[in-house]
Formats: sequence, structure tokens, C-alpha cells
Amino acid sequence: MSKVVKFGGSSLASAEQFKKVGDIIRADKERNYVVPSAPGKRFSNDTKVTDMLYGCYALAEKGKKFDKALSDIKERYDEIINGLGLKLSLEDEFKTIEKNFKEKAGSDYAASRGEYLNGRVMAAYLGYDFIDAADVILFYDDGEFDPEHTNKKLSKVLSAHKKAVIPGFYGAYSDGRVKTFSRGGSDITGSIVARAVKAEVYENWTDVSGFLIADPRIIDKPEGIETITYRELRELSYMGASVLHEDAIFPVRKEGIPINIKNTNSPEDPGTWIVESTCQKSKYTITGIAGKKGFCSVNIDKAKMNSEIGFGRRVLQAFEDEGISFEHVPSGIDTLTVFVHQDEFMDKEQKVVSSIHRLASPDSIEIEADLALIAVVGRGMKATRGTAGRIFSALAHANVNVKMIDQGSSELNIIIGVENADFETAIKAIYDIFVTAQL
Ligand code: ASP
Repeated sequence: MSKVVKFGGSSLASAEQFKKVGDIIRADKERNYVVPSAPGKRFSNDTKVTDMLYGCYALAEKGKKFDKALSDIKERYDEIINGLGLKLSLEDEFKTIEKNFKEKAGSDYAASRGEYLNGRVMAAYLGYDFIDAADVILFYDDGEFDPEHTNKKLSKVLSAHKKAVIPGFYGAYSDGRVKTFSRGGSDITGSIVARAVKAEVYENWTDVSGFLIADPRIIDKPEGIETITYRELRELSYMGASVLHEDAIFPVRKEGIPINIKNTNSPEDPGTWIVESTCQKSKYTITGIAGKKGFCSVNIDKAKMNSEIGFGRRVLQAFEDEGISFEHVPSGIDTLTVFVHQDEFMDKEQKVVSSIHRLASPDSIEIEADLALIAVVGRGMKATRGTAGRIFSALAHANVNVKMIDQGSSELNIIIGVENADFETAIKAIYDIFVTAQL
């Protein structure tokens, strides 16, 4: 069995970090497939190579001089190559990049060079084969990732390589033009490679020891999450927990391959296991809390709307017509509320309001801005009585006014709407009642 290991930018920012990565890979002979990101930040106000590449290409695109910007990037790699004592020259690679920049190869091509070159360095350092992601990660013409063709091709190619490096973040259209995933997309590549080789585990190495129960910017030293299911993670990442790219679970999920988030700077830590299903109880009733500010609610009143067939559809039609996606739609007998992202909605609000009037003839519409949504997630909630009661009494004690409550039918999460100004207080109150009070 093989393990697929993906290393994030901070794990590969310098020769010193590369050496830690080398030790980790050599410590386990099953770590056969390696997916690197581009070199990230070496210190807090450093610039990621990906951002340097975007900046450099922006100059090239405008027809400005970009040789200094490109040589600064080359320096980042040379520092790593020299620090590792490798006999590798990227001279020719940079000549090709310069030529392609002049020919306006596109910003996706530009950004992808960060991972491509780091893959070259990594392959030379480990003595692994190098496989260009542009040959094996395939995109449809509309820019969507093509999972099935990729899986077929990648499985076939990798079956001929016992140990290989496949750079993260990019692939190509059928005509060979490079296409990247969204930012942080090397996590997706790692998952795709794990699926293709039917890996035993997908290890995602980063600079933190896994997911935390709550955001450390709000809670002082929150506890870590040992095991979380794919579905729980979807809920938390959607609401802002950002250790792993939110699309990274889909490929491994197809094969039931677990993901283990690990810390390159503290490899002994167990990290977080992300699994399909588990009989391991989480330590607390809840697995995690996450949330986002910046929502607004559109409250629609109409007497007896409960008996008017098609009312909900007509209201949502007004949002669809303006290309606005909705988050939650709690409803009562005479009211229906639609939660939307404030920034998406703001410019179009009057159009939507008049369209609701036209389509659904409500009695009144009221918009409330500056709301936050908080997701309290946990597979343990289903089997525990009183979870909702504990959440709401904790919020009442903390003087937080609850604007909305939504519990999914899976009983995996409870979503609570509060004012933006109450966001941090609410998260602290929920964390305290479920975690601090249990310690
Ligand atoms: N290097 C890319 C980024 O900075 C992709 C990645 O690191 O996953 O977004």
C-alpha cells in the first residue's frame, strides 16, 4: 500500500523546511507519492512564490519589464537548491518561463510554475520520478475539473512509477493550456492522486497540528479535533474553518480513503483524522464550531402563506433571477426568511424586493443586515439530548439575541443566526459550555 503525502507552502519555504520534509518522507517507505505546493512564506511578512508569480506576470502582461521580478523568484529556488546541496540548475526552465511570459501564456500558467519548479526540486532531492501535472490532471473546456478521465489516466501513469512527485495546484485543458484550481488547490491534487493510487491514507502536511474545535483568533488555545467525518468537515469548512481546501475531500471520499492532517514542524503530533464514518466518539458532544459574518436576512410576511402552494418557489425565483444563492430559508406560518451573503445581495436588493412583490405578492418585506451565522457541528448531537437547550441557555446567559435557528434533518449541525456584533461572544459561550465546562 502507498501513502500520498502533500506538503503545503510553509513546509517547503526554505532548504531547512525541505530537510524536515525529506526526513518525514524517508521515515516511512510507503510514502511513495509526493504532492508539493510552491514555496510559501519563510516569515510572517514574506511573499509566497505564487503571489510573486502573479505579480511578475501582471508586469509581463502589461508589456512592462519583468526581469527583476523573475530573478527574485529564481533566487527563492536557488536558495533552496544550494541549501540542500543539489546539483540542479533551473536556468533553462527560467528561460522557457521568460519566453512564455513574453508570449502571454496566461496567469494560470504563470502561477502554476511555482508548483512545477518546486516539484522539480523535490524530485531531484528525493530521487523520485517527476510527473508534470499538466499531463495527468485534466480539465473540461468550461474550466471544470474532469475527475473520471483524470482518474483513469493518472492511475495508469502512476502504476508505472513506484515513487513519484506530482506538483499540486494545476492541470491542463485538452489542448495543453495550463489551468489551475482555486487558491490552496494543491490540497485537491493530493486527494486526486490518493484516489488514483487507492492510497492507504492521504497525509496532508501543513504548519498546524490539525483542525481546532474553534477559531484560535476567538478562543484562546482551543483544543484540537482528533477525528472528524467528511460530512462534519464539509459543514465546518463551508463556515470558514480553513486548514484544508473545501473541495479536497471529494476525490478521496469516492474511495473511502482517510485524510490525516499533520504538522511538518511537529511530526509526532497525531493531527486530525478525517474519515468516512467512525465509532470513535468525539471527546465532547460537539466536534467543532465555525461561523462567518456578513449575511443579511430578507423577511417576507404574508398572511396564510402556509397554505399557498408554490409561494416558496416564487420567492426563491426572485433570488435565482438575479443570480443570488441563498444560505438558509427558515419559515413560519405567515413568514419566510431568506439568508443571503450581504456583499452579493447589496447591489441587487431593490431588484430582488420588487421581483418578490411581483412574483409572490407578499404583505411586507423587511431586510436586516450585518448578521452572522454560526454552525455548531457534531455527529454526537444525534444521540444526545438537550444539545440545543444547552446552546440556547449559554447564549441567553451571554446576553446574545438569537435571530435564527436551523437544524438540518441529519442532526449533524445547528445553525444559529446572531448579529455581527455578538459573533465572538456567541462562539465563546458555546465553546465554554461544551468544552471548557467539561474539562
Ligand atoms: N500555491 C498555491 C497557492 O498559494 C496553491 C497551494 O498552495 O495549494 O494558493
